Amino acid sequence: MIHPRLFLSRLHGLISLKLLAFVFAGLLCIPATAMEPKQIQAALDRAYEKYKGLKEGANADYIPVLAEVDSNIYGIALVTPDGKVYTAGDVKSEVSIQSISKVFTAAKVMEESGPDKIFNTIGADATGMRFNSIVSIEMSKQAFGGPEMNPLVNPGAIAATSMVKGNSRDDIFNSILSYYSDFAGRKLSVNEEVFKSESDTNQRNQAIGMLMYAYNYIEDNPMQATDIYTEQCSISVNAKDLATMAGTLANGGVNPVSKKTVLKPDNVPKLLAVMATAGLYDDSGKWLWRTGLPGKSGVGGGIIAVSPGNFGIAVISPPLDEAGNSVRAQKAIADISNALGGNPYAVMPMKQ
Ligand code: GLU
Repeated sequence: MIHPRLFLSRLHGLISLKLLAFVFAGLLCIPATAMEPKQIQAALDRAYEKYKGLKEGANADYIPVLAEVDSNIYGIALVTPDGKVYTAGDVKSEVSIQSISKVFTAAKVMEESGPDKIFNTIGADATGMRFNSIVSIEMSKQAFGGPEMNPLVNPGAIAATSMVKGNSRDDIFNSILSYYSDFAGRKLSVNEEVFKSESDTNQRNQAIGMLMYAYNYIEDNPMQATDIYTEQCSISVNAKDLATMAGTLANGGVNPVSKKTVLKPDNVPKLLAVMATAGLYDDSGKWLWRTGLPGKSGVGGGIIAVSPGNFGIAVISPPLDEAGNSVRAQKAIADISNALGGNPYAVMPMKQ
């Protein structure tokens, strides 16, 4: 029989080992799924507390109704491939998905028509220009023999929406909505107030749709494509929805909570590549530098990020920085991912 004092000292040794593993998890790149649920939860709680009082940034206001969204909404959620959901803060309040929708419409086109439908027309390169740049269209491949675009800037996103199959406008939109719902694992719906507010003020996106039609990126009905794009941006999500959507991408296209296959595994890395290239507007490179994570942000205040095989994470907090990315979301995701060893580029050298 083991002596009680020896038992206690072994137990103590074990506990400190676990503590050490936790502290150095980031450095040692232990995947999140290999970590204790308590450690994952602690990482979320720490980031939540650390940035709760942060008051930097401002809500987007070029879509009038977004300026009125409660700036204090702050929720974090993380979903692992085994279907565990971790949360901190307000994961019930919903915001409009906005640009994050672009990822999932591109996914839909890849599923329906194959990845080359996106790759050979819209492209997969950063434009080096603002997300709603008209100049980027004028300079682009089909207009001018110039560079490609990608489906995460407005011109590419509106073109991607135009590629979704369906027999009528409603048919196309409903199929987009139900696809997003499969990613989220629940039935999502449209925030009609946001849809109206953006429809009343989206003349620039209408111009983008028209130009994309002029240069044959859009085959037909550019105004309908812009209208459906605007509606897809108005779909309401909370942090848990977004984390489950990201978690589906972290899990090879299978929703880890509902277990439904939403995207072919082959399409996932292609989608993640575009997110890494252009997911956080003009700060996409900085974001990748800090986290190594493919991500996507939206002017509603959400950011999703994916650590392939490890976790999908999302934070919602409406105040944005100059580049249009949520201030708290960037900081919280970077802290959590780095604490959990989420950076896929960070590996330790093999022992020789
Ligand atoms: N609906 C917005 C727009 O088209 C989305 C922008 C964003 O979230 O980046 O301007």
